[in-house]
Amino acid sequence: MAAAETILIRGGTLLKGVALNPVRGEAVLIEGERIKAVGPERKIGRPKGARVIDAVGHTVLPGLIDAHVHWFGSRSPDPMMWAIEPKMLNCARAVSDAYKLLYYGFTTVRDVGSRNGVAIKRAVDEGSILGPRTVPAHLGLSMTCGHGDVHNLPSDWLCGCSSMAFIVDGADNVRKAVRQTIRDGADVIKIWTSGGTMSERDSLEDQHFSDEEIQAAVGEAHALRRKVASHAEGIRGARASIKAGVDSIEHGFDLDEAACAGMKRKGIFLVATLALLDRVVNTPGVPEYAKRKATPMFATHLRSFKLAVEMGVKIGSGCDAFSDPVTAFGPYNIRELELMQQAGLSPLAVLRAATSANAELLGLERDLGAIEAGKLADVLVVKGDLTAGVAPLTDPDNILLLLQGGRTIPRLKELLPQPRQAG
Ligand SMILES: [Zn+2]
Repeated sequence: MAAAETILIRGGTLLKGVALNPVRGEAVLIEGERIKAVGPERKIGRPKGARVIDAVGHTVLPGLIDAHVHWFGSRSPDPMMWAIEPKMLNCARAVSDAYKLLYYGFTTVRDVGSRNGVAIKRAVDEGSILGPRTVPAHLGLSMTCGHGDVHNLPSDWLCGCSSMAFIVDGADNVRKAVRQTIRDGADVIKIWTSGGTMSERDSLEDQHFSDEEIQAAVGEAHALRRKVASHAEGIRGARASIKAGVDSIEHGFDLDEAACAGMKRKGIFLVATLALLDRVVNTPGVPEYAKRKATPMFATHLRSFKLAVEMGVKIGSGCDAFSDPVTAFGPYNIRELELMQQAGLSPLAVLRAATSANAELLGLERDLGAIEAGKLADVLVVKGDLTAGVAPLTDPDNILLLLQGGRTIPRLKELLPQPRQAG
C-alpha cells in the first residue's frame, strides 16, 4: 500500500454532499483514504505537506457508480459462448475490463451475476489489481428455462449453473441457492423474475418463479441482510417482484402506474439500463432471437422510464455492460448517463443517480456516493462544467484526477486493453 497522502482540491465547482449541490469557493481536504473536511478554503487552509490540486474551471464530484454490470469477461455477443468459454480466460479479460471501467471514472460497480465478481472484488480490495470496488451477486437465481439458463445447450452440460446463474426450482431450493451464493461471497442477491431478450426459449412477458419462490428468495436474502436485485423486463415479473419487496427492478421495460406506485411506496429502485436495447438490436453477431425480442421494447422502455421518474420512483443508474466490445466497458457506461439526460433528467439528477442514489441502492451510503467529511475519498476532477451536461465524461482525457480511497489512480492510456476482434 502507498503511504497515506494529504491532498487539497481547491477552486473548482464542487458537487457537494448527497444532493450534489454545486458550490464554488470551497475546498476538499483528503487525508489517507477518507475525506477529512469540506468547506470554505480560508477555513480549511493549506495543511503542511499537502499536494494541492487546482481545479479552477473544472468539476469536482464523487466517483461514479454503475449498479448493473457483469464481469463475464466475454468477448462474444452470443450468450451461449459466455457459458462455454474457458473460465480462466474470462477472468483474465474481466481484469482488463475492470481497469478500463475505472479509467472512465467508475470507482464502484455492482456485478449482478457472473462467475468472476467475487474474485474481482477481492483482487481490487487487496490492491492486486486496479478496478472498481465491486458489490458482487456471484451467480444469480434463474428457474429452469429462465433467463440465466442457456437454452440451446444440453442441460447436462450445465450441471445446474451457467456463467451467471444457479438454475433452481421450488422454494426450498431457492432458499438453498441464496445461502449457497452468500456462502460463495455474494453481497447482493440477483433473481430473474421474467424472461429476457438475450435468452432463446423464454418470454420477457412471463413471470418467472412463482410468487412463493420469489418470496422465499427475498425473505432469505433479507434475513441474511442482503438486498435483492430483480431482473424484470416485462410487467408480470415486475409486479411479482414488487409484491415480494425486492430492492430494485432491473430493466423494467414495461412498468405501469400501479407498478411505479408500488415501487415508490416500498422505496424500490429502478435501474433502467437505457443503453441496452440499442446494442442488442444493432450489434452484429447478437443472435436473431434476441434482436427479434428487443425491437418492440424500444418505445415502451422509454415510456416506462419516464413514467417512473414522473411518479417519483427512486432512480439508480446501470447500463448492463456484459461483453466488450458489444457493450464496451467505459464508453457504454457513460452512454447510459447521456441517455438518462436525453430522457429528461437534469445533469445533476443523472449524476445523483450515478453517485449518491446508487450508493444507497448498494447499501454503501455511509462510505460512498458523496463529497462529505468522513466518506471514502473516491473523487473525480473533470475538465469542464458537468452541471451543464454530462458530455465531458465521454472523453476520459477530461478526467484530470481520479482518486479511489484517497489513492491516485494512474492514467496510463497505453495500458488500456485494445482487444482485436477474433477473425
Ligand atoms: Zn444484466
